[in-house]
Amino acid sequence: MANTSQNPRNPAPTATTAEGADGTGADMGVGDTVTMEKIVALCKRRGFIFQSSEIYGGLASTYDYGHYGVLLKNNVKGEWWRAVVQERDDVVALDAAILMHPRAWEASGHVESFTDPLVQCLGKCKKRWRADHLEPADNGDPRCPECGGELGEARQFNLMFETFMGPVREDAARIFLRPETAQGIFVNFKNVLQFARRKPPFGIAQIGKAFRNEITPGNFIFRTREFEQMEIEFFVPPPEAEEWHQRWMDDRMRWYTDLGIRPDHLQLRPHGSDELSHYSAGTSDIEYLFPMGWSELEGIANRTDYDLRRHAEFSGEKLDYVDTATGERYVPYVIEPSAGADRGTLAFMVDAFDEEEVAGRKRTVLRLHPRLAPVKVAVLPLVSRDGMPEKARAIYEELRRVIPAEFDEGGSIGKRYRRQDEIGTPWGVTIDGESMEDDTVTLRDRDSLEQVRVPAGGLAEELLRRLHLDWRSPKIES
Ligand code: ATP
Repeated sequence: MANTSQNPRNPAPTATTAEGADGTGADMGVGDTVTMEKIVALCKRRGFIFQSSEIYGGLASTYDYGHYGVLLKNNVKGEWWRAVVQERDDVVALDAAILMHPRAWEASGHVESFTDPLVQCLGKCKKRWRADHLEPADNGDPRCPECGGELGEARQFNLMFETFMGPVREDAARIFLRPETAQGIFVNFKNVLQFARRKPPFGIAQIGKAFRNEITPGNFIFRTREFEQMEIEFFVPPPEAEEWHQRWMDDRMRWYTDLGIRPDHLQLRPHGSDELSHYSAGTSDIEYLFPMGWSELEGIANRTDYDLRRHAEFSGEKLDYVDTATGERYVPYVIEPSAGADRGTLAFMVDAFDEEEVAGRKRTVLRLHPRLAPVKVAVLPLVSRDGMPEKARAIYEELRRVIPAEFDEGGSIGKRYRRQDEIGTPWGVTIDGESMEDDTVTLRDRDSLEQVRVPAGGLAEELLRRLHLDWRSPKIES
């Protein structure tokens, strides 16, 4: 939760900015040669992610996903569903509404304590900062990171966005945009128990938008005011909580490395006692080595029985579990792996970004896990004559029925490959003169640049076979 998310190694703070800033900050080349500027530029150049409302000068720290960005983030979310629901027996899906009864946010503690300490510069710039992200100056209290001015008293600022339901703007009509998806899961606990016929240990998984009026958003899509979360609330008998906490930490770390994140760019950091949220008996963050330093990707908390107890108290509904075999009655503990879909997408892009020189030319390539790549195969006629475009198009139309494919006939073959490399397409199929005679094509590998000749008829099977092979990032030094 925001009021306790202090991280001593957090990136340099970014001030609350006015409309128009893209919030990418200035000092972002630490830790890797991949800078945030390079990622932002690639995202714009290839249509992954744009500044929101750009024609109006942009809305600070708000982003729109373009074609390849949508496909990439969908793949991240798809791999999450696959791992946490499809390949398990003990987790079911949910899609709860963003708008919830306002009492739910009183019960959860958000109305009272979903706050960050806000300080304002009393000097020249008047910017606002998150007090817990500021470093103390040499001689004591922190100063304004922008102009060095003195800072005012910290006050607690609630991060929930408010709006009004219905036509009258009065307190009774005040509701909130959810700041986390978790509460939609807790209020459905009873429904799932009854209708999905589950008993602890079992979990409920959900992906959806969350909104936080962050004081200092920034670092591109790392911290925005509107973002997507991928959350699991896993309900367990209280004595099993610690064991399940450990299992989820292991599972979630493995998810990132299985999808190609380099293990030495990933770490699990337990929260110190001063960082723990009010509901937590223990939280560990999965952190990634972003260009601005180690930062949280996902939090895995032992939320105890806090949320179910509070909702039971505020709603008057019983939210405990009764084992019909033994008659035992208890309120389950909850283990919560809570990840950000946008932060995850950013981490996968940063980890995959590579630049190299091939035959004297610079090549930029996104070495994404093939399952995450927005497009799996590009079908390219070598030249735009001699029947090659027609044959390529026919192959493409066959392939796209089974695998995300793209057809590109414009420009030199080198230029087309560079474009596909930049969007991370793992395989390229070229139709050349020989293809017209013997119905074979060349199949090019994005990472090794190896080209092999294969029969056009067996392409779909070959690509599906490759897609399901275990994959290891070529950026991992052996
Ligand atoms: P932080 O310390 O970065 O503020 P937090 O500890 O408040 O994060 P949680 O409440 O644990 O975050 O939220 C779970 C996950 O949701 C985070 O690990 C992150 O991936 C994502 N998330 C939280 N806030 C934001 C945000 N403002 N923009 C993008 N993703 C976010």
